[in-house]
Parts: sequence; structure tokens; C-alpha cells
Amino acid sequence: MKEYHPKIVIDLKKLRHNIDQIKARCEARGVRVAGVIKGFSGIPACAKVFEEAGCQYIGSSRLEQLADAAAYGVKGPFMLIRLPMPGEVEDAVRLADISLNSEPAVLRALDAAAAKQGKRHDVILMADLGDLREGFWDEGELLEAALLVENELSNLRLAGIGTNLGCYGSIFPTAEKMRELVARAEAVEARIGRRLDIVSGGGSTSLPRIFDGDMPERVNQLRVGEAIVNARDARDLFGYDMSFMHQDVFVLRAEVVEVKDKPSMPVGEILFDAFGMKREYIDRGVRRRALLALGRVDYAFPDMIFPRDAGVEVLGASSDHTILDIEDAKREIRVGDTLEFTLCYASTAFATHSPNVKIAFA
Ligand SMILES: *Cc1c(COP(=O)(O)O)cnc(C)c1O
Repeated sequence: MKEYHPKIVIDLKKLRHNIDQIKARCEARGVRVAGVIKGFSGIPACAKVFEEAGCQYIGSSRLEQLADAAAYGVKGPFMLIRLPMPGEVEDAVRLADISLNSEPAVLRALDAAAAKQGKRHDVILMADLGDLREGFWDEGELLEAALLVENELSNLRLAGIGTNLGCYGSIFPTAEKMRELVARAEAVEARIGRRLDIVSGGGSTSLPRIFDGDMPERVNQLRVGEAIVNARDARDLFGYDMSFMHQDVFVLRAEVVEVKDKPSMPVGEILFDAFGMKREYIDRGVRRRALLALGRVDYAFPDMIFPRDAGVEVLGASSDHTILDIEDAKREIRVGDTLEFTLCYASTAFATHSPNVKIAFA
């Protein structure tokens, strides 16, 4: 049978292993894992594995992905992890059991949608602790919103408080930040006069608190995608030993369409590349190169795909071509061969969004 490329080959057993490993470490510290599926565009067969592994929630920023998972037979419960668009509150209530929120007007709209559907919808109110993406900045506003949900919006249930760090503002979730989150949660509890079920301490970037054993006790949920799917950032950015995890759950395969010896320095007047950028080139003399039939529209950043072949180097890319240096490759690479790449969060997200990249399972 003809094999089509480029494609992503997914190993569901390795995915399950990674979920189990992170889950066990979190649960040993009283933290439940909401499995986040947006980093691989919500591929339903993968979402199913998160469910089978016993994640507290299946989470995505995009309702389409939750709908696809449900249609595939995933039962959830489902968590909408991007603030609901006012225009999608009906779908948010229909498709998600719980959502993250920061706007009173949207909370009112969710309540109305839930009333109409005869459903109860859970909400987590987000506190912005400095990363400057979503969440209440002002503690007074957070407390007011908590009272609004608790006392006036009878179709909503205030399930807890959450935060997100390390996304826009690059803020590291230190133990101090986690204690700030707990303080917000306790302020809300004092105001509404009861204990909250969920204190949601962030995504993969909060895992160092689990690994170091200094997560405050009240934090009892993390919403984890990258550390399960790619397992790279804790190792590459923060220096944690992640050898108990598979970094190759998702492998990108592409086909070689040209192999030639060429100079490494472009010949002629150097101006701009395909994307209007000025680039630096290093003259390493004539070297063997391969051209792959996939490009930046498939994965965005050429320095974020990692060749599995020793001695193969990604030199750059245009929309639909990737240029490799294969001079030092340990095997002979010919036209028609396929090369494999492991991925990081960004390249997995882009490649799984590309309609040209097929999905296959190992
Ligand atoms: C994307 C996202 C996550 C998961 O982030 P990872 O880095 O993939 O673990 C968690 N919470 C929110 C609000 C997100 O947007």
C-alpha cells in the first residue's frame, strides 16, 4: 500500500505511559490532572487515552475539539480552558462540564444558557498572578464575581479558583506564586462561607512544584498538556530529569525530494528569504544536502523539529520545503527516503493543525 507523507505517527502506548507517570506523581501530592488535548489539535483517539487513564477532566481551549472527542465516544468530563467567547456560551454549556472564567457578563450569559438547557455548569474563576493573560487582576473584583456566582447565578456552581502562568508574561510558577493563589482561594472561601473544591495551579510549567515537593497543600489540580505530550520543557528549559518519560509520542515523518552537494553559502546578492527576513549564512564549504517535502506552513519553526538521525541538521525552511545538512549523517540518505523528527509543543500544535500532515498510529 502507498504510504503518504508528511505524516505524524502517534504511539498511544507511550502517550498512556506519559499520562500515568505525570498522574502518579501529581496524585501522590493530592493533585488531580486535567488532561489538556489542545497541543495536538484534540485528535480524538488521543483524547480517549487521557480518559482511559483516569484524568479528572479532558480539557481544551477549543470547543470543536471537545465536540470531536465526544463524537468519538469520549465521555469526559470536559473542561473549556479558554475563557468562553460570549458567542459560544450555548455550546460551552452543551459541550463542557466546567469552564475557566474572568468576566461577569460571560458568567451571566453562561447562567442563562445553563437555565435554558436545564443544566448545571461549573466554573473556575481565574486569578491573574502576574503572567498578564486571563484572570482577575483586582482581588475585589474576583471576590465580587465569586459572590455573583454563589448567590445569584443559580445554574452555575463555583467549583474553584485557578491561575495560569508561564504563557504570555513568562512568569515561573514558584512556590510563592502558588501560595498567592491559595491566599486568593481562601479569601474567596471567607467571602462565600464555604470551602472550594478546586484550586487549579496552572499547566505543565507548574509541575516543578510537584517534582520539588513544594506545592502548597491546597493546590489540588493541574491542567497538563505539554509535559505529557512532549515532555520537553521541564527537561530542556528547567533542567529536570525527564528520562522516565517518552519524548517521542508524536513523530513527524517527511519524504526526501532532492539530495545534492551544494555550497553552504548562497551564491549571489543576499537579500531576503521567503518570509521577508534577513538571514545569516555560515560558509562551511560544499556539503551534502537533502530537501524535504514539508515546510514552515506545516510546523512554523525550523529549529523546533528535531531530526532523529544522528548527524542530520535542519538548516532552514520555506513554506513547503525544509533544507537539511546531511554531510555528517550516519546513514546514506536518498531521494524517496523518509526522515523522522521529534517535536516540541509548538511544532506538534502546528503540524497536527496542518491538513497536509496525515495522522497515523504506531
Ligand atoms: C494551554 C493551557 C493549559 C495547558 O498548558 P500546557 O503547557 O500544555 O500544560 C492549561 N491551562 C490553560 C488555561 C491553558 O490555556
